[in-house]
Amino acid sequence: DISGTDNKGFKGHDMLAPFTAGWQSTDVDPLIIEKSEGSHVYDMQGRKYIDTLAGLWCTALGGNEPRLVDAATKQLNTLPFYHSFWNRTTKPSLDLAKELLDMFTAKKMAKAFFTNSGSEANDTQVKLVWYYNNALGRPNKKKFIARAKAYHGSTLISASLTGLPALHQNFDLPAPFVLHTDCPHYWRYHLPGETEEEFSTRLAKNLEDLILKEGPETIAAFIAEPVMGAGGVIPPPATYFDKIQAVVKKYDILFIADEVICAFGRLGTMFGSDMYNIKPDLVTLAKALSSAYMPIGAVLVSPEVSDVIHSQSNKLGSFSHGFTYSGHPVACAVALEAIKIYKERNMVERVNRISPKFQEGLKAFSDSPIIGEIRGLGLILATEFANNKSPNDPFPPEWGVGAYFGAQCQKNGMLVRVAGDTIMMSPPFVVTPEELDELIRIYGKALRETEKRVEE
Ligand code: PLP
Repeated sequence: DISGTDNKGFKGHDMLAPFTAGWQSTDVDPLIIEKSEGSHVYDMQGRKYIDTLAGLWCTALGGNEPRLVDAATKQLNTLPFYHSFWNRTTKPSLDLAKELLDMFTAKKMAKAFFTNSGSEANDTQVKLVWYYNNALGRPNKKKFIARAKAYHGSTLISASLTGLPALHQNFDLPAPFVLHTDCPHYWRYHLPGETEEEFSTRLAKNLEDLILKEGPETIAAFIAEPVMGAGGVIPPPATYFDKIQAVVKKYDILFIADEVICAFGRLGTMFGSDMYNIKPDLVTLAKALSSAYMPIGAVLVSPEVSDVIHSQSNKLGSFSHGFTYSGHPVACAVALEAIKIYKERNMVERVNRISPKFQEGLKAFSDSPIIGEIRGLGLILATEFANNKSPNDPFPPEWGVGAYFGAQCQKNGMLVRVAGDTIMMSPPFVVTPEELDELIRIYGKALRETEKRVEE
C-alpha cells in the first residue's frame, strides 16, 4: 500500500521519488534491503532489522522459506508460463482455484479469477459486478459504496474505492460512481456517551440513508476490509458488520470482502470474514496468498453471482477481461505451497498462540502520555500518538512524532510502518516468541526516546 503519502513527518517524502513507487524519500538515502531471514531483513551494510510489517503486510512465512523457493524452481523448470485464456489453463492455476474455493467456508464460493495484485483484483470486482447487473437487466445499478480510510489499491478504480484523500487528490478521483461512507473507528468517531453498539447502529443508519438518498436501484456493491489495514489498522466494533450486512442485503447490494491483508490467519481466523461472520458475495485476495514470494491476487465469486454471469454470457457476450499473467503457473505453484504450509503448520492456531504476547506486550504501553490508542488483534496492531490521549488533539504535524518514533525503531534495528502519527505492524506468522520480546523491547526504547523528545 502507499497510503502513507500524506505523512507529514518525513520531510521530502514523495511516492514519486526517482526510485520505485513505494516508501521513498528524496532527501535521504533509501534504506536498501538486500537479504531476508525469518522475521528479519538486512541492509547493504549488513545491519539487521526485525521487519514488523512483513514487507507490506505480506511475507507471512517470513524471509527464507525454502519450500516456496523449491515450488517456484520446480515450476519454472517444468512450465514457466502458459496462459489461462480460451478454455486453456495450467494445472497449478486450476489446483489453486479448487483449493481456495474449498478453503473459503464463510460462504460458498464457485469460481476463482487470478490477477497479479490486489488492485487488479478489486478492479476485476467492479467489472464483475457491472457485468452481473447488466446480465440481470439493471444497467443503472452501478454505484459502489466504500468507506473513508479504506485501502483497496492504487489503480484508477481501486484508488477510487480507497477512502484516503492522498490517493484521490491530483488524480481527479474518486470516479463518480464511487461513494464513501463512515469509517468504523470507534475511538475516533464515537459521540460523547455513545456505546460501541450505538455507534455501529448509527453507522448502519448512515449507510442506509446514503443508499436511500442515491436510490437503492443505483447501488451495486459495498466493499470493506474486515479490519482496515493501511488506513490505520481499524478493527470494527463487534456487531458492526452484522448491522451493515443487514442494510446491504435489504437493498440487494452485493458485499465484497477485501481480504488482501486479513486472509490466511492474520486475525487469528483463516479469513477475516470468519472473524466477523461476514457472508460476502465476492472476495479479494493477494499478499499472503503467496506469502509475497510471487505477485498474485485473486477474486472469489459466489455461485449466485457466477451463475448469472455464465447463464447470460451468450446474450451479453463473454466476460472479456483478463491479464496475460492471470493464473501465472509459477505464482500459482508458490501460492499452493504457501497454503499447504499454512495448513500443515496450523498457522491459524500458531497466530492465536503467539498473538497474546504481541497484543498484550504492546498494549501495556497504552498508559504512555503520548499514546492515544493502541488497537489490534491477532498479528496486526497500530499505535496512534495523540496529545492528552484524545483523538481530537493531535500533535502538530511538523513535530513529526510518528516519524521520530519510526526513526528510533530503525536506529535500534526495527522497521515499522509510519503514516503520520500512526505506527502499524503486522509481523510474519512465523515470528518467534523471542523475536516478539525483541520487538517489544525496541518499541519500549523508541517510545521512551519519543516521549523525551515530545517533552522538550
Ligand atoms: N486491498 C487491500 C486491503 C490492501 O491492503 C492492498 C494493498 O496494500 C490492496 C488491496 C492492493 O493490493 P496491491 O498493492 O497488491 O495492488
